[in-house]
Amino acid sequence: MSFPPPFFALKFFFVFATLIMSSVAAGKLAIVTGANKGIGYEIAKGLAANGCTTILACRNAQLGEAAAREMQSEGLDVSFRLLDVGDRASIAAFAECVKNDLGGKIDVLVNNAAIAFKGSDPTPFARQAAPTLAVNFFGTVALTNALLPFLQMSPAPRVVNVASESGHLSILKSKEKVKIFTAPDLSEERLVELMLNFQSDVEAGTHATSGWPSSCYGMSKLGLIAYTKILAREQPSMLVHACCPGYVQTDMSSHQGNKRPDEGAQTPIMLALHDEEDELRPSGQFWSSEHVIDW
Ligand code: NDP
Repeated sequence: MSFPPPFFALKFFFVFATLIMSSVAAGKLAIVTGANKGIGYEIAKGLAANGCTTILACRNAQLGEAAAREMQSEGLDVSFRLLDVGDRASIAAFAECVKNDLGGKIDVLVNNAAIAFKGSDPTPFARQAAPTLAVNFFGTVALTNALLPFLQMSPAPRVVNVASESGHLSILKSKEKVKIFTAPDLSEERLVELMLNFQSDVEAGTHATSGWPSSCYGMSKLGLIAYTKILAREQPSMLVHACCPGYVQTDMSSHQGNKRPDEGAQTPIMLALHDEEDELRPSGQFWSSEHVIDW
């Protein structure tokens, strides 16, 4: 880009600002799950545009490679690696890949991959809990735990869990359950047990009488927010947050919603990169539109 002489100062400012922006995260390795489309694609693009070496961790090699190629054609430092968050063997292989191919240190993990059954899906409700929780909760927790040793090698590790306001505590129909999920000493083991209870109650058709909501997706995100708080407590040197991207036009929302995917990516990107770390403390909060919100 060339500037006429009167605009030399402007040119200097432009180059300087670009250098500052791209150096914010220089040398950082970021992993984004489910980055081949939708919000995850835009999160990966935004992290790479800000200087992160960014890994698009996707379950479909063709789609993941195509997304990486698109971003590479824009000069971004991204690459694709295979990861099915719902498959423990795939998680183990991905962790090996981080260790052997990616240098063994992760600075940013964005857990974005998720599934949601649509209202029109013929799968009976009783059979929706297991596959939903397998990716959105159990798989995401297993992946994060598998990657913790690599995050601990970073001087300033961050985990961003893309949750949803569908996981608000108000979906729980019993005050007793709210108390259990918000207990300050809730352990990961107890949380896993609770989520398994939800799953088996859905499968048995007894979830409503047991005080559970009729939303597997909502419960999966509620569990993810609870896990975020546990992880933040157990890993005080890390910044761990959950967020809702808003109502975003993607395949998941059947392209409804008031935000474009790049707008939905803003809060996750901010949580991953904002350089005033103090402004993101305390860790373990639930965010939307770049603000902490009530859970
Ligand atoms: P999309 O359905 O557009 O994208 C979801 C991504 O997750 C895809 O890349 C998909 O891969 C991937 N994915 C699903 N399952 C797996 C798996 N087992 N392993 C690896 N990747 C997987 O959804 P959005 O972009 O809308 O959603 C992104 C996040 O934002 C999700 O966590 C969602 O719950 C959350 N969210 C979205 C809202 C919205 O309005 N859109 C609202 C609130 C939260 P593939 O292409 O192979 O299917």
